[in-house]
Amino acid sequence: MSPAPVLPDTTSELTRTGVFNTVAKTAPSVTNGFVHHHHGTSATLPELDASLLRFNLTSSPRRVPEPNSPEVLSMKTCTDHMITASWTLADGWAAPEMKPYGPLAIMPTASVLHYATECFEGLKLYRGHDGRLRLFRPSLNCRRMLMSSTRIALPGFPPDELLKLITKLCAVDGPKWLPKSRPGTFLYVRPTMIANDSALGVQKPKEALLYVILACFPTLDRSAGPNPGMKLLASQDDMVRAWPGGFGYAKVGANYGPTLLAQGEARQRGYDQVLWLFGENCMVTEAGASNFFVVWRTREGRMQLVTAPLDERIILDGITRRSMLELARERLVNGWHDIEPLEVVERRYGMSEIVEAVQEGRMIEAFAAGTAFFVAPVSEIHFRGVDLPIPLAAGNIGRYTGLLKTWLMNIMYGKERHEWGYVVDEEG
Ligand code: PLP
Repeated sequence: MSPAPVLPDTTSELTRTGVFNTVAKTAPSVTNGFVHHHHGTSATLPELDASLLRFNLTSSPRRVPEPNSPEVLSMKTCTDHMITASWTLADGWAAPEMKPYGPLAIMPTASVLHYATECFEGLKLYRGHDGRLRLFRPSLNCRRMLMSSTRIALPGFPPDELLKLITKLCAVDGPKWLPKSRPGTFLYVRPTMIANDSALGVQKPKEALLYVILACFPTLDRSAGPNPGMKLLASQDDMVRAWPGGFGYAKVGANYGPTLLAQGEARQRGYDQVLWLFGENCMVTEAGASNFFVVWRTREGRMQLVTAPLDERIILDGITRRSMLELARERLVNGWHDIEPLEVVERRYGMSEIVEAVQEGRMIEAFAAGTAFFVAPVSEIHFRGVDLPIPLAAGNIGRYTGLLKTWLMNIMYGKERHEWGYVVDEEG
């Protein structure tokens, strides 16, 4: 038997050791610098390699629906192609393939169908106002996908190889599905990994399938229309989204299914999303599948942007969240034209602080931020029988929220040249 792999000082931590071992076996190039010598044959198995991509292009192209048509609203329409890559414990990663979009064949015993061995990502492909196609900071999604896959005992892969595959699919299907005549539109990119072992035993998967699809999504702008602002329903004590030591920080399917009951209930009661609280102090964590921010004035008179921290590992490290924090730190801490300087704070905070800020007139704005709903102003939070109104200072969106949202949109749609905008060179 080969000796145990060389690990960083994490040997007593079950999860971190498991993640490290998975990466060392399935994507050894990612652990370069940690692994000093390889063991047995596993280290030589093929890694995910985008340069091996095989093409099997469609002979029956699909029709592109009109933006926001009923077909798009149904969220069932995908583009002409998808990319798949399969992995087995015995043989490593096979050559990826671009092929016509269509059903997957898996056995009823497949691990994912029973044990939620699944993870995914969500990002968007934007048709810029300058006519170019862009992804937004996609390497962050690919790194997060690796973190999620290894958390759920799925294989690792070099994140750059996933990025190359995503880029290729966007380059092939983007020109037709996001025509230049529709600047300001987007497609939703969904990389997914599932364990498709057809063995019912509860065990680490020995087979997996990575796939990437591009879906047509409606434009969901919560600051437009007659009722701007989302209404949030704070979660009750009997429903917790994530907890310390759990997996709330990973984008695994197991985090989502169990929240749909509360989400449905919130909708039925006239709210848009659930505001997920945690613990006895009703710590504020996330809103639906978005990170949550407040802007308030402290009792000492300082203007602050506040959001929950990552170190508890119960919220997702959102790419929109990161970008909002980075932009606010770069552009707002000293004020912006006639707008007051803003302190940027990542810390634990509870509902009692929100209640006090509202009651004392110190609440300025609140918003949810994530890829799917982008930046959505919040106009009301219902907490334990009380409706807390949140101001929307500039009529339909707060001033800080509006500025941050515009800056991000300008980067996504190419109005501002920025390193976060990742240009996709089109094919065909
Ligand atoms: N929180 C959760 C639970 C999510 O599912 C998402 C959605 O992706 C986010 C936050 C926002 O993350 P991002 O900005 O990367 O889309």
